[in-house]
Amino acid sequence: MTQKKAPFPKKSLGQNFLISPSVANRIVNACGLKPTDTVLEIGPGKGALTGALSKKVHTVIAVEKDRRLAEHLREGHQGSNIHIVHGDILDYPLDTLPRGTKIIGNLPYNIATLIIKTVIQERARFSDFFATVQWEYGQRLAARPGTKAYGSLSCFVQYYADIQLLFKIKNTAFWPSPKIQSCFCHFKFSGKPQRKANNKDLLFQIIRASFGQRRKTIGNALSVLYGKEKTARFLEKSGISPRLRAENISLEQFIGLADTVEGEERDDKEAGQNG
Ligand code: SAM
Repeated sequence: MTQKKAPFPKKSLGQNFLISPSVANRIVNACGLKPTDTVLEIGPGKGALTGALSKKVHTVIAVEKDRRLAEHLREGHQGSNIHIVHGDILDYPLDTLPRGTKIIGNLPYNIATLIIKTVIQERARFSDFFATVQWEYGQRLAARPGTKAYGSLSCFVQYYADIQLLFKIKNTAFWPSPKIQSCFCHFKFSGKPQRKANNKDLLFQIIRASFGQRRKTIGNALSVLYGKEKTARFLEKSGISPRLRAENISLEQFIGLADTVEGEERDDKEAGQNG
């Protein structure tokens, strides 16, 4: 049977296909795969990584939203250790995958954050997550305090994972070629969070509010949530100068601040009830 020609790319699905075999090899080699591994590939597209992955591991489960591509891939990989699933990765039951599964994908850039959040929710199941993302976006994921790229995304992701930007990928490695460069990065979940916040919803609320007005000092930005007086008290107890800006406050300091706010709010509430 002759194989049908692969269908034309859909921009709405972030379809920029990897056309460089050397980059594909570099990606697959960077993932430290073992013959016993199960890999979940997000968005296999035309299969630039899929075949090479399947040679290194026990099973590849590849979830592709575009029906045309899923069918095309299925035809090409019948009877192999590759299971093509036609579906949306955001709806895929990640909790059914074997523990220790590795997740790999050249992500559709338009939903990269949603995918990362979805994977983080089920992170206990996965040893590693490798992803190609846009270069600037990768810089934000891995940014350290005191840099322009550092923001609420950096704090959120680094709370749950150690992020390493492994290498840069030129835009010409993809077709259609995107305007910007990409990078391949590694999220390692083990040993995280290093320090747990007592209330992580509160932590991320504080972080969002602080970076939401990143030109303001932390004292002014948080006054919107807690008023001037309380904010000053919380910051002093946490050892953070109210004159600092969010970009100069480490995740560790934000965790300390959130724990202080939680404790103080609870004490205030109890004092109110008793008095
Ligand atoms: N892995 C292929 C490669 O490197 O050539 C394709 C990468 S392309 C950047 C992203 C792929 O993700 C496309 O094949 C696209 O159809 C697929 N995709 C987009 N949204 C998706 C979703 N929600 N769930 C699963 N796949 C999706």
